[in-house]
Amino acid sequence: MNSLTLPGLIDVHTHLRVPGGEHKEDFATGTAAALAGGVTMVLGMPNTTPPLSTPEALALAHAAARADARCDVGLFAGASPQAIGQLTAVAPHAVALKIYLNDTFGPLRVEDVPTLRACFRDWPRAKLIAMHAEKQSVAVGIGLAAAYARPVHFCHISRREEIELIADAKMRGLPVTCEVTPHHLFLDQSHAARLGPLGDMRPVLGTPDDVAALWEHLNDTVDCIATDHAPHTLAEKYSAAPPPGVAGLETSLVLMVTAVVQPRAPHQRLTLERLIELMHTNPRRLYNLPAQPETRVEVDLTPTTIRNVGMHSKCGWTPFDGMPVAGRVQRVILRGQVVYEDGQVLAERGAGRLIGDA
Ligand SMILES: [Zn+2]
Repeated sequence: MNSLTLPGLIDVHTHLRVPGGEHKEDFATGTAAALAGGVTMVLGMPNTTPPLSTPEALALAHAAARADARCDVGLFAGASPQAIGQLTAVAPHAVALKIYLNDTFGPLRVEDVPTLRACFRDWPRAKLIAMHAEKQSVAVGIGLAAAYARPVHFCHISRREEIELIADAKMRGLPVTCEVTPHHLFLDQSHAARLGPLGDMRPVLGTPDDVAALWEHLNDTVDCIATDHAPHTLAEKYSAAPPPGVAGLETSLVLMVTAVVQPRAPHQRLTLERLIELMHTNPRRLYNLPAQPETRVEVDLTPTTIRNVGMHSKCGWTPFDGMPVAGRVQRVILRGQVVYEDGQVLAERGAGRLIGDA
């Protein structure tokens, strides 16, 4: 086996930084990074400046995405206590709703029950609610899924206690799903200590036991791999107050492919079929995303090393710099067009489609 062909991957958790953070990333560079990583469809998070909590802010982001995106893009609306009256007006223009229960980058945060009630009562049932929930906040999300009998998707689950709680909830038949990130699967606290601000993100990197728990549950409890691609410039990362977050779009597939063809440890093993479920089939089903006909990703299975140099993300660095992997993305074809080949992004700005804006 010296190459693999996969369907176009879907990353349901990215931060493309428009509007307000264009010096970190924009739709042109973020979607170039996506294609370089074998990702042909991304969902963008709403913690921008201003946040995507009003129809006006979403319209601004959509216009930029239409002009600049090189792969397909859909955007989340963000739950905000200040703009909760706009929830039904914003819903037709977003793929899904994001609720931040825990501390993260940016001002979106929901800590009051009336806002949570409004979200679960008024957000259209045909569209998913995703949550940033850590530790006991996962129990809050499970409780809301049960109380309102509607699906809740947990973003970037990172700890043993969280994945085990979700496994228990699934066993009881509750409508909950979850994603894990490659950085929580391949890095732990020891990397965080070595990487300093370049290894700081929310949720923070876990203990080796947390990492082992995520791998144990990868074949049953986990629904998706998503990157939480959250670029910041190196100057920001080495400033007095470094913001949390790391890039991930260009490294997720090659890391997960490594778990398929040359696992770094016996328990870090994945089948190709399962990889496709986690990075294509399940994300598409959970968020009810459109098909991309004549779309595929070709991976060259010649062992290589991840390097900062040549990254397409505007931030220009990755926490995985220097890590050996089993191969590289060689070619990406989107709707019959070669959009990436041998390190070159060939898709034009604006060639990507906007998803979910009624
Ligand atoms: Zn995020």
